[in-house]
Amino acid sequence: MEILHVSAECYPVAKVGGLGDVVGALPKYQQKLGHIAKVVLPMYRTKFLFENQFDVVHKGAFSMDGHWLNYTIIKEKTNKLGFDLYLVDIMGILDRERVYGYDDDTYRFIAFQRAVVDWVGKWQHRPDIIHAHDHHCGLIPFMMQYSYEYNYLSGIKTIFTIHNGQYQGWMGWDQARWFPAFDAYKWGMLDWNNMINPLAAGVKCAYKVNTVSSGYLEELRHSSKGLEHLFEYERGKCFGILNGIDTEVWNPETDSYLQHHYSYLTADEGKRANKKALCDEFGLDINKPLFIFIGRMVEEKAADLLPQAISDSIYYMNGRMNFLVLGSGSSMVEQQLESMRGHFFGYYNSQIGYNEALSHKMYAGADFLLMPSRVEPCGLNQMYALRYGTVPIVRRTGGLNDTVVDYGDEGGFGVCFREATVGEITHSVYRALQLYEDKERMGKTVEKIMQIDHSWERSAQIYINLYNS
Ligand code: ADP
Repeated sequence: MEILHVSAECYPVAKVGGLGDVVGALPKYQQKLGHIAKVVLPMYRTKFLFENQFDVVHKGAFSMDGHWLNYTIIKEKTNKLGFDLYLVDIMGILDRERVYGYDDDTYRFIAFQRAVVDWVGKWQHRPDIIHAHDHHCGLIPFMMQYSYEYNYLSGIKTIFTIHNGQYQGWMGWDQARWFPAFDAYKWGMLDWNNMINPLAAGVKCAYKVNTVSSGYLEELRHSSKGLEHLFEYERGKCFGILNGIDTEVWNPETDSYLQHHYSYLTADEGKRANKKALCDEFGLDINKPLFIFIGRMVEEKAADLLPQAISDSIYYMNGRMNFLVLGSGSSMVEQQLESMRGHFFGYYNSQIGYNEALSHKMYAGADFLLMPSRVEPCGLNQMYALRYGTVPIVRRTGGLNDTVVDYGDEGGFGVCFREATVGEITHSVYRALQLYEDKERMGKTVEKIMQIDHSWERSAQIYINLYNS
């Protein structure tokens, strides 16, 4: 089977969050299962672009709102990611350093999707599946079904994966002028509440739809920023497939970002050596349990609760633990977290920004990972933490609920709580301390969680089954 993944992110080319990790790994595992998986994304000006070699494979053009846009498709020469990687360039539109966050993002991603569809139409053969990821690519199934220019591609089966339903790409109807001309009777396939909604369009027009955990699909039927009825109505074609993790990249025995490698058999010494390096770097105490947070500092992740929860934990539990935070997002939360550094010197530290290397060192050196997320479609951090022997503390939501069992329940190994409140987070830190202080139980927990299998092999096969269906 030949599959073309269309995405805004793909690790290590361009990553902002979990979408990048998934699109960097799933195609590789599909190749291993004997299929041909390809990935196409915009040609951002990232480090990867300048450090690798590419061939130009296609040049084309299309008219968008009266302007001709020329596009170029390049292909990475060596197949180093384990699959064919294609990048789309449109000068002045896609040639940016960052993935998102520009005023013309809507225009950029419509142009990207149009270039991809136009290019696929020029192939000598047809792929079996076009797999579109998140709202930035949600218009592709519509364009392939209902635009006059491209509906000759309507026989190609499309899959739409929702990695995050919070972001839907809403735009006004005046922006329909950027679309390839389409059958006006089909406007309803784009519309939701008098706006064009690319996420809704993906759900309506794709042959099959999936979310990245079963729990999250269930939640979308009850709370999805207005799309609840749509998920209920389309339930017959929607599935939940839990993400995996790329165990070649995320392996404490070989991780090139780590100074000290370890397995579940040597976790005690291995984690301690990594913890020492981390504590030395950030002025923390190796003899206290280390709690970390890694992620986007946004409401979804409940990052706004961290400053108070960290302060309360340190005060009420007499500084019996250390905290280290890595992330970026809301400037208010960033400032609060930065300003706490002086106040809690020796107990708390933070690094604001994106730092892939540090994130690996933190998963390896920490004892506990905090994930109080209000919304978590799947969550990869908790799976990385498990693999690196770091006990996750999670709110019971979406994929977190599907992957972490509270240590108080039978067979449990993590700390779970219900509400995203400062009180519940602080109480969970207290429960984690109790676990940590029971050395024997903590040691067994670390050994156990490192052996939980969240690798992609299983989920990659489930995607193939979905394509086959
Ligand atoms: P989301 O996609 O909603 O951000 P996920 O848990 O699915 O959340 O994936 C987050 C991914 O991004 C993980 O690989 C995590 O380690 C990484 N990540 C998030 N913030 C940072 C950061 N500031 N520095 C390094 N890695 C980060």
